[in-house]
Amino acid sequence: MSPIPYGRQHITAADIAAVTETLQSDFLTQGPKVAEFEQKFAAYIGARYAVAVANGTAALHLCALALGVQPGQRVITSPITFAASANCVLYCGGEVHFADIDPATALIDLQQVRQLLERHPRGYFHGLIPVDFAGLPVNLEEARQLADEFGLWLIEDSCHSPGGSFTDSQGREQRCGSGQLAELAIFSFHPVKHIATGEGGMITTNSEALYQDLLKLRTHGITKDPAQMQRHDGGWYMEMQELGYNYRMPDMLCALGISQLERAEAGLARRRQLAARYDAAFAPLPSVRPLAGAAGHAYHLYVIQVPDRKGLYDFLREKQIFAQVHYIPVPAMPYYQQLGWQPGTFPRAEAYYAHCLSIPMFPTLTDEQQDYVVACIQEFIRQQ
Ligand SMILES: *Cc1c(COP(=O)(O)O)cnc(C)c1O
Repeated sequence: MSPIPYGRQHITAADIAAVTETLQSDFLTQGPKVAEFEQKFAAYIGARYAVAVANGTAALHLCALALGVQPGQRVITSPITFAASANCVLYCGGEVHFADIDPATALIDLQQVRQLLERHPRGYFHGLIPVDFAGLPVNLEEARQLADEFGLWLIEDSCHSPGGSFTDSQGREQRCGSGQLAELAIFSFHPVKHIATGEGGMITTNSEALYQDLLKLRTHGITKDPAQMQRHDGGWYMEMQELGYNYRMPDMLCALGISQLERAEAGLARRRQLAARYDAAFAPLPSVRPLAGAAGHAYHLYVIQVPDRKGLYDFLREKQIFAQVHYIPVPAMPYYQQLGWQPGTFPRAEAYYAHCLSIPMFPTLTDEQQDYVVACIQEFIRQQ
């Protein structure tokens, strides 16, 4: 059996052809594939606008900038996420706060968020960054109600959930990143994500104003649109109107993204099939506790909790199965501890971290490979 990672990209001949074609075209950076990827991605997600950027972290940074995060502002996110969900606030000089998770899902617990909000005067917090952890969509309808009640904006970190959805209280399907409930949503195209371009990211929104601002921020704060300029000296003229960055996604990677997007639904279906097979395999094993599932789950990860996580991790490595831990709680990172976060502040996140393990989950994982993973876990559990 060849080594089995917890996640991996899938590159087809069509992907390679799409990239090669772009390499032979006139555009290496901002060519026609950027707008085409943005339009197709927006259509897939169900949002009005999409802005392609260098990676998911850049997407978060631009969202925080576009929403005006600045020194003195406070933003809440989940302790169980990739550090970038929190770091984007720090990039803008803001302060990050956390609310503990729901132990059944490992998603930020909106009741905990409410309690945190109620302990402070209205206006103390400015935004909330919920994360669709592992691919399970946050109930954004509830998050929106909370945000409206306390005057917050929302950035949905949808890196794990392209194609995911939840059913709202009216029975409507709410797709992750569709811009219906959160001002902005972000995605990443890192190799382990659903759509893999190496580096790459996307922001989706239904707000024309945020969209226009993001386009500018992505490219140094410069506009070349005469309608937006204060004066017009000639054909060469452009204006830098705010402090932006070079967070562009190149044309060849957008071509790869377009090609990958065509397989997104098939990949999602396979992820859900694999999750159902794991669910069935672990049902008779009380010491293997998978995180709660749901109909619209996008299964970026399949996470189990076991009593001896380190033991299982090491055992699987010996069997050439490379499981991973998602995540070390962000406030437990030395950098965040230095900012004042004390161990013990988020007991549920810490308890989850002590036992969680992400086992192989990617569309090209075969039934045979998955059966081997399950057999190895069963073998480890029997030895306990
Ligand atoms: C991958 C990821 C990011 C960052 O994306 P990059 O493209 O690696 O910068 C942010 N948030 C979450 C939840 C992620 O999984």
